[in-house]
Formats: sequence, C-alpha cells, structure tokens
Amino acid sequence: MGKAYIVGAGPGDPDLITLKALRCIQKADVILYDRLVNPEILKDAKRDCHLIYCGKRPNHHPIKQDTINHLLVKYSNQGKTVVRLKGGDPFVFGRGAEEVEALVANGIHVEVVPGITAGIAVPAYAGIPITHRELASSFAVVTGHKPKGKPTDINWKGLATAVDTLAIYMGISNLPYICEELITHGKNESTPVAIIQQGTTNHQRTVTGTLGSIVGVAEKEGIQNPAIIVVGEVVTFRDKISLLEPEGKAENYATMA
Ligand code: SAH
Repeated sequence: MGKAYIVGAGPGDPDLITLKALRCIQKADVILYDRLVNPEILKDAKRDCHLIYCGKRPNHHPIKQDTINHLLVKYSNQGKTVVRLKGGDPFVFGRGAEEVEALVANGIHVEVVPGITAGIAVPAYAGIPITHRELASSFAVVTGHKPKGKPTDINWKGLATAVDTLAIYMGISNLPYICEELITHGKNESTPVAIIQQGTTNHQRTVTGTLGSIVGVAEKEGIQNPAIIVVGEVVTFRDKISLLEPEGKAENYATMA
C-alpha cells in the first residue's frame, strides 16, 4: 500500500524547507507540485520521480482540485509514495485539508508535513516581526481573496479592532476593498502597511505606506502577486533596523509568479 504526504515547501527560498519535507521529496515516486513551489527544491527528487505540475501555465487552466484529489488517490493505490508539495504551509490557504479528507476517505495513509508559511516568513525577510513586545500582541492570517459576486465571510470589524497585526494573503487585486473595509470598521487611516512581493527570493520587493496611501503606492510600483500585505505598527520596526537583504537562492522563482 502506498502512502501520501501533504507537504509544505516553505515560502520561496529553497533553504526554508524542513528536513522532513526534504526527506519526503527524496523518497517520492510521484510529486504533485504547485505554482508557488520553488522548482529548485525538485532537484532533490529521485531521477525517475514522476513530477506533475498543478499550477496554471500560460494558456492552460490549472489542474482542478477534484482531479488533484483523484490523482493523489490513484497513485497511492498503486503502492507509490506520493508527495503533494505546496508553497508555504499546506494548511494555510493551501487546500491541504481537502486532500487529506479525500485520501482518508479512500483508506490511504496520509501524513502532513507543515511548512513555513509566507505570512510570517516573508515579513521577517523584510525586517518586520509579526509580533513585538510593545507593538503587537496578536496577529491574524487573512485571505484577501474575494470570490466574484459573493460577499466574503471575513469579519473585518473584528480584524480592524481586535487584532494588532494582519498578514493578508492573496489580497493584491482587492487592495482598495481591503483598505476601505478596515478603515470603515475603525482602523486608523494612518496605520502603517507594507506589501512584500515574492518574499524570501532574489526578487523580493517591499513597498510601504499607510492604510490611506498604500493603494496609490502599490499601483505606482506595479505590485503583483504573490505578495503579503502586512497591516500594523510592526511595519515601523523595519525602519529602525537595517537587515541585510536575504540571500534567496531562487532565480527560477520569478517565472513562477
Ligand atoms: N500555503 C501558502 C499560501 C498559499 S495562498 C503559505 O502557507 O504560505 C498564496 C498566497 O500566499 C499568495 O497569493 C501570496 O499572498 C502568499 N505568498 C506565498 N508565497 C509568497 C511569497 N514568496 N511572497 C509573498 N507572498 C507569498
């Protein structure tokens, strides 16, 4: 009987992968990997490992979630060691839970290997601590993705008033909406905001502003996904220290964005 591993590959810098994830990659017969997985990590796979790209290619649709679940089950049932490799952590906006469910429903042994999630690591590489003894005692990870035509079930009021730092994923196309919601629900317009694009890679870019100004800044700078939006006083920490720019080893990564 095969075994499936739902594995986090970390946020981009290939050195930010766990030993356990690396061991999974080394022993896998099949790897289904996502767009945000640095391809450099795949060099450690066996020579005859079957690599399946699940992201969107130009003029192609990404493989549907149902198809991915089906492939995971199919290869596991063939007695293979199957690795589902995802950017960051598989359970943070990664649909890892659905894959675990599909595998378990089919009686397949599955193990989850957590990864370093972008919402914490990406700000860190930009000199922003997600918590700070004086500046932030709480943080929330939030999806900024808004399904077309549907209202979100995000509690913006709670996020605006009860949480110190927000790390917002998938929020670039909804940036005006996000800022508006936070301001409407009581967050001060002068609250510092940073946006970090392609964090932890050689292409990392950071722009900063406030809830009131960041939309203009991001537009002017042409900020694109993948990017993390950090809202909160911790953003000011960046100005107090001069961190060395990270030495990401991720030349290939740009093509994946
Ligand atoms: N499971 C992933 C998140 C997947 S959702 C994790 O735990 O990190 C995809 C979103 O993650 C992107 O739209 C972006 O908001 C964020 N993201 C992932 N990698 C990133 C990176 N290197 N730099 C900035 N944002 C990143």
